[in-house]
Amino acid sequence: MQRMARIWQREGRKIGLVPTMGYLHEGHMSLVHVARKKVGAEGRVVVSIYVNPLQFGPQEDFSHYPRDLARDTRLCRAAGVDVIFVPPTADMYVSGAEEAKAHSTYVIEETLARRMEGVTRPTHFRGVTTVVAKLFLAVLPEVAVFGAKDFQQAAILQRMTRDLNFPVRLVVAPTKREPDGLALSSRNKYLSAEERVQAVALWQALQRARQTVRTAKAPRLAQELKAELSQFIQIRPAARVDYIEFFEPDTLAPVTEVKSGTQMALAVYVGKTRLIDNGRL
Ligand code: AMP
Repeated sequence: MQRMARIWQREGRKIGLVPTMGYLHEGHMSLVHVARKKVGAEGRVVVSIYVNPLQFGPQEDFSHYPRDLARDTRLCRAAGVDVIFVPPTADMYVSGAEEAKAHSTYVIEETLARRMEGVTRPTHFRGVTTVVAKLFLAVLPEVAVFGAKDFQQAAILQRMTRDLNFPVRLVVAPTKREPDGLALSSRNKYLSAEERVQAVALWQALQRARQTVRTAKAPRLAQELKAELSQFIQIRPAARVDYIEFFEPDTLAPVTEVKSGTQMALAVYVGKTRLIDNGRL
């Protein structure tokens, strides 16, 4: 991959990277279109597909995570992707009987990664920053496109890129949704028909918070609004709130008062499936 990227660079082509874990949907494909726009017709768009074991916790869904490389390939071809980069784990993380020779280097963002997703998933972002750093070094992109669906992830990767001087421009593309508002996600596949109906609660909670901010005469206390929205979500029998947070979009710093421009993020278990969403209020 690196050799090919160097050739493209010598040819004066811009390289755009869209990192994914596969099982592609319209959300991913919208990132591909953004990448193409950024690199132009002569540029090269690379989609990486890698279910990164390092970003899954021991109790998480790594082994069940949906995979369909044949379908992903068709979608990428139809969207004009130049290369699908599917690295084998043996190439990404050298393992082996001899521990002394195994992979032991990580990229860790130490501030933003501790909040929200980082509370429930303490090793998740270490996996994300490490794998994205490796993908940057393999694909040598000028532009990398990420989804606003994973808002905290995008913020952490921006920070990593700045802190480590990666010569990559990050672009964050808006969240694609189902007609009823549910954010597209490969994990939606896990939902039963009944759970699928209840999963729209995340979107409805966001809309409700927006409505509250629009109509409130004074800023609302974050604690109060959290409690109210938790209750609203958990009326649905399959739904259990993991967190609801209100914060500054630039710094991820929590706010005590919710007002127009505040960012909201939430994680909710619907049955056994953990879903996340976020939006600007
Ligand atoms: P994943 O395959 O879930 O790791 O996601 C790969 C990339 O696609 C990440 O940058 C995600 O933020 C982005 N993405 C996932 N779902 C959506 C969506 N519904 N809309 C836009 N981008 C998305």
